[in-house]
Amino acid sequence: MTKSSRQTVDVIVIGGGPAGTTVSTLLQRMGHRCLILEKSSFPRYHIGESLIPDTFHTLERLGLLPAMRESAFPVKRSVRFVSPSGTASEPFFFSETIDGPRASTWQVERSEFDRLCLDHAAQAGVEVRQETRVKKVLFEDDRAVGVLAEGAQGEVRIDARVVVDASGGATKIGTQLGLRGPVPGLKKASIWSYYRGARCSQGADEGETLLLTLPQRGWFWFIPLPDDVTSVGIVADPEYLFAESRDLSRAFLREVERCAPLADRLRSAQRVGAIRGLRELAYLNHQTCGDGWVMVGDARAFLDPIYSSGLFLALSSAEMAADCIHDALAAGDVSASRLGAFEPRLTAGVDTVRRLIHAFYDPEFSFPEFLRRYPEQRPALIDCLVGDVYKDMSVFIDCLEQMTSPP
Ligand SMILES: Cc1cc2nc3c(=O)[nH]c(=O)nc-3n(C[C@H](O)[C@H](O)[C@H](O)COP(=O)(O)OP(=O)(O)OC[C@H]3O[C@@H](n4cnc5c(N)ncnc54)[C@H](O)[C@@H]3O)c2cc1C
Repeated sequence: MTKSSRQTVDVIVIGGGPAGTTVSTLLQRMGHRCLILEKSSFPRYHIGESLIPDTFHTLERLGLLPAMRESAFPVKRSVRFVSPSGTASEPFFFSETIDGPRASTWQVERSEFDRLCLDHAAQAGVEVRQETRVKKVLFEDDRAVGVLAEGAQGEVRIDARVVVDASGGATKIGTQLGLRGPVPGLKKASIWSYYRGARCSQGADEGETLLLTLPQRGWFWFIPLPDDVTSVGIVADPEYLFAESRDLSRAFLREVERCAPLADRLRSAQRVGAIRGLRELAYLNHQTCGDGWVMVGDARAFLDPIYSSGLFLALSSAEMAADCIHDALAAGDVSASRLGAFEPRLTAGVDTVRRLIHAFYDPEFSFPEFLRRYPEQRPALIDCLVGDVYKDMSVFIDCLEQMTSPP
């Protein structure tokens, strides 16, 4: 292929999930020609259904709030913890620390939410090519210059000034460059499925997420979705989950029965989805941007679903990256330092979330005990649960460190 016959755009985005659509919609609106390459055909299935309130800012900037309000997605106003004996905590209502419409968010069916985001990107002028898989990111002198992709027209080379890796758990650049590795001290597996007719909460907290804790520091999520469907999943140590059998279904159904408060809520429900799972959840990349490239969302790292922070981090990292990529393109300088100028702020926020995840799985730590000892930290804890983590959290972290060592 001659250089003149190759397509050239400003920004190639690998993956049309929430991170990819966010970064490309914002950049396209700022005047840059963006191309999303997505390997699957939407709508496609995806796990990760519970939003947290601070996604509001990015959804507002994208202009997606009207569509969200018109959708059938249940409104989520709170989170509640249920102990192994079945004792439920008081709901943590987000309105305790946030006023107005920002105090609620949504539980989303991902096939529908992701399709909405992808259509919205296309409406903003982003070129979207589905069923097109990026096989390789191309580098010249260590600078990303484009990709080799495979789709309906066969294999094509596309050049770009910036390549954004938004490929989720596939971590395209991380895998290609050998940057991906485990997260020290965090090794969990997850298995999940869907039920129709489960007994959900009623009233103001009907759309709440329930977190049912297990004696071995594992937990179940219980997330109401449209059409009376509930998403139910377990996160626990793989050694515990698969001790008796490697079979996902057997492990999942056994654990549902063992968790009495959950089994009770599912008593008259019918399972309506396949049983799916991941044997290793957490990973991170040792480098997250370089000359001509940057990672956003799960392509960058994934820690744990416990605080439902995945979509929030996907949207907020993509939004921060969009602003830096815009600056870099405008300045004609796509160096790593310019493209990744958002990294310190993002990393500090992620670090707070990581400490909280670590605390949750620390057998010596207990949140009720933490709140008894530091009642003045309840608003800061709720700030973490809503995603308000891009600010100085040092006092909260100091208190946390009095009761659990840092990761
Ligand atoms: C068990 C579990 C439970 C979770 N629960 C929650 C939750 O309750 N709340 C929450 O906020 N988050 C949750 N998450 C996390 C959430 O799912 C992710 O954070 C979120 O999907 C990240 O969005 P993304 O756009 O970065 O990646 P994705 O949504 O994964 O999108 C990446 C896209 O890239 C495409 N792609 C991949 N490789 C290529 C390629 N080579 N070429 C072209 N396209 C490619 C994929 O097809 C995909 O569409 C959970 C995750 C897990 C594992």
